[in-house]
Amino acid sequence: MADQLIRATAADGGIRAVSVITTRLTEEARQRHKLSYVATAALGRTMAAGLLFASSMKRPQSRVNIRIRGDGPLGGILVDAGLNGTVRGYVDYPDVELPPKPNGKLDVGGAVGQNGYVYVVRDVGYGYPYSSTVELVSGEIGDDLTHYLATSEQTPSALMVGVFTDITGVTAAGGLLVQILPKAARDEALVSLLESRLVSFQGFTPLLQAGKSLQDIFEELLGDMGLEILPEVQMVRFHCGCSHQRVLGALKLFSQAELEDMIEKDKGAEATCDFCGTVYQASESELIDLLAEMRAEG
Ligand code: ZN
Repeated sequence: MADQLIRATAADGGIRAVSVITTRLTEEARQRHKLSYVATAALGRTMAAGLLFASSMKRPQSRVNIRIRGDGPLGGILVDAGLNGTVRGYVDYPDVELPPKPNGKLDVGGAVGQNGYVYVVRDVGYGYPYSSTVELVSGEIGDDLTHYLATSEQTPSALMVGVFTDITGVTAAGGLLVQILPKAARDEALVSLLESRLVSFQGFTPLLQAGKSLQDIFEELLGDMGLEILPEVQMVRFHCGCSHQRVLGALKLFSQAELEDMIEKDKGAEATCDFCGTVYQASESELIDLLAEMRAEG
């Protein structure tokens, strides 16, 4: 099934749910960054969460950045996702691999580390972005971001994110976010029914692998709680807004002496976009123009 996101409500708007399939875009990230199995799972889970977080924002240009930095060998993870359905991201050390855990699952918590923080920035496109930081809980990402939602945004939430890979690549990836709004949070019977339903789910990717659609998953979870699935199916994709011009602009971060050095010794410069792995070449004459610009600006 194509990568897509759908939204639903239940309990007269007291429950908000969003789910997303990210199988193809996670595979694209794996290929672009040459990610190991465990790095694919770590980045894939964070990308699915980014799209779910961004989906509840209002203004069309809204974006969410999730930065996770633990003390594990993977280094940091950075994801940038938009309400428009685009997402990009990377990990610091894409080739780190760890043996699976005794239960056969990828050791994402071991790769990310248990000590560190989650830093989330919500940018609505004007004014100061809203940002907040919480400590990591397990490094497994789903737990950490659920903890973030509960403490920083104070909305009781359940977040499931998952990535399944085999030797052919990513075979299933996606996530589910269910939030209980204040008017439903007082209904104890409803909350406990929802909790027990979520506990019985045992993960999101197994449902995708069993051939269930996002609509089926919503039916199973909320079908008897006044479920209303919104008709719009939003396509989601890996997309990076980098360009030759932007990368050239970023070369201004170097000193004039460093640029002179690149012109003399290398007759140009090569820069790689962290987010998507695209390699850009700046020619000697472009560097000379850039240097002249910098000198003119003082
Ligand atoms: Zn890029």
